[in-house]
Amino acid sequence: MASTGVHTDLVKRRRAVLPDWLSLYYDEPIDLERGEGRHVWDAEGNRYLDFFGGILTTMTAHALPEVTAAVSEQAARILHSSTLYLNRPMVELAERVAELSCIDEPRVFFTASGTEANDTALLLATGYRASNQVLALRNSYHGRSFSALGITGNRAWSPTSLSPVQTSYVHGSRRPGTPMADLPDEEFTDACVADLEDVLGQLNGNVACLIAEPVQGVGGFTTPPDGLFARFKEVLDRHGILWISDEVQTGWGRTGEHFWGWQAHAANGGPDIVTFAKGIGNGLSIGGVVARAEIMNSVAANSISTFGGSPVTAAGALANLDHLVAHDLQGNARQVGAVLREQLDAALGRLPALGDVRGKGLMIGVELVHPGTGAPAPELATWALEETRRQGLLVGKGGMHGNVLRIAPPLSLTEEEAREGARILLDVLEKAGRA
Ligand code: PMP
Repeated sequence: MASTGVHTDLVKRRRAVLPDWLSLYYDEPIDLERGEGRHVWDAEGNRYLDFFGGILTTMTAHALPEVTAAVSEQAARILHSSTLYLNRPMVELAERVAELSCIDEPRVFFTASGTEANDTALLLATGYRASNQVLALRNSYHGRSFSALGITGNRAWSPTSLSPVQTSYVHGSRRPGTPMADLPDEEFTDACVADLEDVLGQLNGNVACLIAEPVQGVGGFTTPPDGLFARFKEVLDRHGILWISDEVQTGWGRTGEHFWGWQAHAANGGPDIVTFAKGIGNGLSIGGVVARAEIMNSVAANSISTFGGSPVTAAGALANLDHLVAHDLQGNARQVGAVLREQLDAALGRLPALGDVRGKGLMIGVELVHPGTGAPAPELATWALEETRRQGLLVGKGGMHGNVLRIAPPLSLTEEEAREGARILLDVLEKAGRA
């Protein structure tokens, strides 16, 4: 895909003023200019089917008219951000989130990002429990602020361990290539619970919380057996330890089967705190925390975020949520996700570069391995990322070894689009096997 002079110039200018570590994903960076439904266009007029939803931020559809209208109307009235004044869209959105939260006596606080939401959850849990000892899952990703780094087990993303929280990591997801990965569900779950008990036995004093993604996102959509967190909760409850479910990627119906990812596990109640971001705003910068009143109100704070739940982002998120629920996009994620899975699952064993297909609903991980040895193949995944793009499909990349293609389209994906994307993916995987 040839780049114009203007494009090259923008890359140069970006390099001159932005940090060196800010990556641009593709050899030839994409300058996204326009979106509609499940498609986006770059500045050169190339059209792509979007199977990554702008890293799961475009939850429902690109250019959703209701969101555009809500944002424009609010922006025309007043643009500001403050928690010091009454803000109708924020209150209305909080009511909606509370109603959908499945948390008793819910209280909602909005932030500007997922990282800030997790920071706030840590602030609440550590304050409530008077302890800065926390538990997180190995291979996790919870953000890159100083404290979120401290709960991010994925070392590719958290090279420093100087964070203010003291974190112990426990097993809790099927990380490919590890001895536990291939255990049957029950044995895997027992081993994770034994690990949790073991870690707790080694810790001194209070532990504040366990934070976990129900399906690990950046980690490559690694998925624990259903019910694991219910077993964890039994142990946590015995010690009074809070459970924080990070629903930044799994929330709002993405997994198809439930509204929240944690619901696949609930047998004896849900988490104490839920964090969310990304998709709630359909591309707008909004995240948040919902917790039981007793926990939310346990900290003394006038506010934590100036920009969280600004009138514009709250109005847009409210329109987005209304659309999502009214059109049963969770049901669509289940149905269309199954179509996509059927196509990809059928290729397992047939395409030698395809190591695994996993995930739930419209959150599907496709693992690339070396044909023959089955070893993780990050270079094939990088090649596949470029090749899918050449064929007009945008996907994500991640996983512990950087060898997983991440598929997470807007939840309104049609069956026809699912088949079109699957056809490109299968073609690319087939070529990867010959590469
Ligand atoms: N939690 C999870 C599970 C995430 O996937 C991410 C972002 N990839 C975050 C938290 C951080 O969100 P943000 O980038 O909005 O700060």
